[in-house]
Order: sequence, then structure tokens, then C-alpha cells
Amino acid sequence: MGSRAATGEEHPGRKSPTRQVQVVVRLRPCLGDAQGEQQQPCVRGVDTRTLEILSKRNRAETVQYQFDAFYGEDSTQQEVYVGSVRPVLAHVLNGQNASIFAYGPTGAGKTHTMLGNPEQPGVVPRALLDIFRMSREQCNQLGGPEWTFSISMSYLEIYQEKVLDLLETQNVDLPIREDRYKNIFIPKLKQQTINSFTEFELHFLPALQNRTTASTKLNLHSSRSHSVLLIKVVKMERTDPFRQLTGKLYLIDLAGSEDNRRTGNEGVRLKESGAINTSLFVLSKVVDALNQGLTRIPYRDSKLTRLLQDSLGGTAHSVMITNIAPEYKHYFNTLTALNFAAKSKLIINHPFTRETIQPIGECQRNWRIKAAP
Ligand code: ADP
Ligand code: MG
Repeated sequence: MGSRAATGEEHPGRKSPTRQVQVVVRLRPCLGDAQGEQQQPCVRGVDTRTLEILSKRNRAETVQYQFDAFYGEDSTQQEVYVGSVRPVLAHVLNGQNASIFAYGPTGAGKTHTMLGNPEQPGVVPRALLDIFRMSREQCNQLGGPEWTFSISMSYLEIYQEKVLDLLETQNVDLPIREDRYKNIFIPKLKQQTINSFTEFELHFLPALQNRTTASTKLNLHSSRSHSVLLIKVVKMERTDPFRQLTGKLYLIDLAGSEDNRRTGNEGVRLKESGAINTSLFVLSKVVDALNQGLTRIPYRDSKLTRLLQDSLGGTAHSVMITNIAPEYKHYFNTLTALNFAAKSKLIINHPFTRETIQPIGECQRNWRIKAAP
């Protein structure tokens, strides 16, 4: 089999403080079909950064793609987490924003990667455990400045361009706003303070349950909605000058990236308006606009991109985990997902620290913007 590099170009080291979006790909194992038969794979790993997929034009050839990391079908939850997620957490505890998002077609392993199950916990529980551990360690550090931490969570989904609070029972579409410091926020979104991992689970697990049982068209709903868990970490200095650093971590399980106009959805005829997920479509346009260096980036054209404005070409550390399936029947969805991942590699972010100083007795906040180290 011949092979040629399609998108393997490297980017020269760029000066701090810019950061490229980290784009990694995870291939799930082959799942046997109903008869237990394994399907033919169309994609396979080459090394820890490279994979190859059969060529569209000539099935005797393969095309190689290179990413920041490639996790093969035998990769564990721990490997994905330690290799690509844990490294950004230190930034969140230092007042910077970070986003981890799972992208890819339905059934390719996004929810497995993000949530996992009790035997194989995914990115979300692992990140929460580490955030509490790291904040405890910083509180106990001898000799350094004394800090306290306030950690809170919000959990929402974007479904048919509505922003819904999963920690509340009423289904109201919430507006997204930007403050004068370019922070994106949702004023009416519930922010639940959490002091431990146990407290996190206490609020998260029922919300997860609500989400999955609320919809009658369960699969259709979950494959079309984006779920966004936001963990906000406020780090406060106990002594003069009472610095306060606020970092936000978004953990996002995106809607399935397949184009329902082509695949249909289990034979259901879909209304044209619902066939393409607006938010995912705009996400792709945002990536194109950033790559072309356009001055107008269409963040405001969808709820997801508006919310992620900080994370794409913005101020965050971002990791995109593209999930793909090996079976031949998913070939076109896999190829589309890989091409999206390849173009996302080009985006540069500019992380910065959000620090406020609140002198005692003075209510005015002074914002300083510091370049990331
Ligand atoms: P998605 O959220 O992208 O629609 P899921 O995470 O629900 O896909 O995965 C589809 C199925 O494949 C599930 O049954 C899941 O348990 C299984 N699966 C996905 N990734 C893996 C993996 N890396 N190892 C084992 N099973 C996996
Ligand atoms: Mg899913």
C-alpha cells in the first residue's frame, strides 16, 4: 500500500504566549455488529501521532494524518487524560481558561471519552478529582503565598440553538452575554459551589440523569445536542495584595458531526432545518475564518461558537479530542471528522491570566491582563 502525507505539516515553535489548539485523535475499538461479527476497519494507527486511512480516490492507497497525539484502539482512559487533558489544568488554577471538547460522529466514542463509566472513568471525573487535589495542595504549600479556592460548576446543553440549564428543571432558553473585559458568560445560568468531588457528583449525576430521561427521542436528542460542563476556579490570596485569579474550564461533549442529510437517521425523514446542526456548521465556518485570518469571525452566528469564543482563536488553552470509529461503514464520517481536525490544528490562541486586585475597603475592581508564562 502506498502512502502520502496529506496534512502532516509542522508548525515552527511560536513565541509565547500564543498556543495552538491541541488536536488529538482517538480511535475506538471495532464493535462487533448484532451477530457479533467484526467489520472491516478503514483506518489504523501508524505511531503515537500518526494514523492512516484508505484513500478516497484509490482504495489501494492510504492517506496519512498527523496530529498532536493519536490514541489507538487499545488506548486507555488514563492515557488520553494524562497525555492531553491533565497538562491544561494547572493553567485553570492560575486564572486562565481552558476547553476540552470531544468532536466526531455519533457512536465514535465522545461520551465514552468524556464521561466513561464507573469501571473506565473518563475525562470529566478525572479532571474534577485533579482540580480538587491540586487546589488542596496549593492551599497547603509552605512558604508560598496563602491561597484559598472557590470552585463552582454549571452544566448546560445547547439543543436546537437553545441554551438550557441542566442544573435547573425549567427549560428556558438562556441568553449569552459578553462583559467589557471580553468574558463570555450566561447571567442566569446556575452556578453551584462545590467543595469536593462528592459534592460535584451530588449535583452532576442527577443532572445527567435528567438529561437522558427527559427526551423521548433519546438517541436523536443526545446526538444533536452539545453538553457543556463549566468548572470555574477562583483562587484568592489571603494576604495583601489580595490577588484574585479566575479560571474557567469547559468540558464539552459535542453533537455528532455526521451530516444527517446524507446519512439519514435510522430511516427517519428529517426536516431540512434540522438536518445540519447550526452550531457545528458555524463552528466549521469559524475555523475557516480564523485560518484565513479574516477580521470578522462569525462567532455570533451560533450559540456554541459564541460560548466558545474564548476557546477558538481566543484566550483559552484548547484541546480537541476527535473521536473516530474504525469500521468501513463509517468511512465518510471519519474522513470528514479528520479533515475538520486537520484544519483546526492551525488555530492559534492567546491565553492570558485574569487577575483582579481587591484592596480592602475599595469596591472598584482593577483588572490586569498578564501574558501567559
Ligand atoms: P458518541 O458519544 O460519540 O456517540 P459513545 O461514547 O456513546 O459515542 O460510544 C459508542 C459505543 O462505543 C458505546 O457503547 C461505548 O461504550 C463504546 N466505546 C466508545 N469508545 C470506546 C473505547 N475507547 N473503548 C471501548 N468502548 C468504547
Ligand atoms: Mg454521546
